[in-house]
Amino acid sequence: MSTLPRPDLRSRAARLMMMRHFQCIQCGEVLSTLATLRSHERVVHQRRFPYYCSVCGKGIGSKERLVGHMASKHDDSKKYNCSKCGKQFAYQKSLLTHTQNNCYGLQDSLLTN
Ligand SMILES: [Zn+2]
Ligand SMILES: [Zn+2]
Ligand SMILES: [Zn+2]
Repeated sequence: MSTLPRPDLRSRAARLMMMRHFQCIQCGEVLSTLATLRSHERVVHQRRFPYYCSVCGKGIGSKERLVGHMASKHDDSKKYNCSKCGKQFAYQKSLLTHTQNNCYGLQDSLLTN
């Protein structure tokens, strides 16, 4: 009958601690330590974007992404855009209806984008 602590249990717990990883809540990337998670957040999520969408003002990380953003969010067929919130409309009539009835300004476009 032995009263010694079982070393295999302790090392298993230590291994689990080592394997514990830290996930970025903003992009889901998994980092191995809290320090690297913190630096990831600082470098990836707190830097200024090199590109900004000229239509809605959204910050974009690369030129390719900006092109993709323009294609998906700002269809060429929509020629009229609201000067207050940047929303686009295919017809001037729709834009007028929007500006007169349901434009909430810049905050609105920031929320929907
Ligand atoms: Zn992240
Ligand atoms: Zn945009
Ligand atoms: Zn508007």
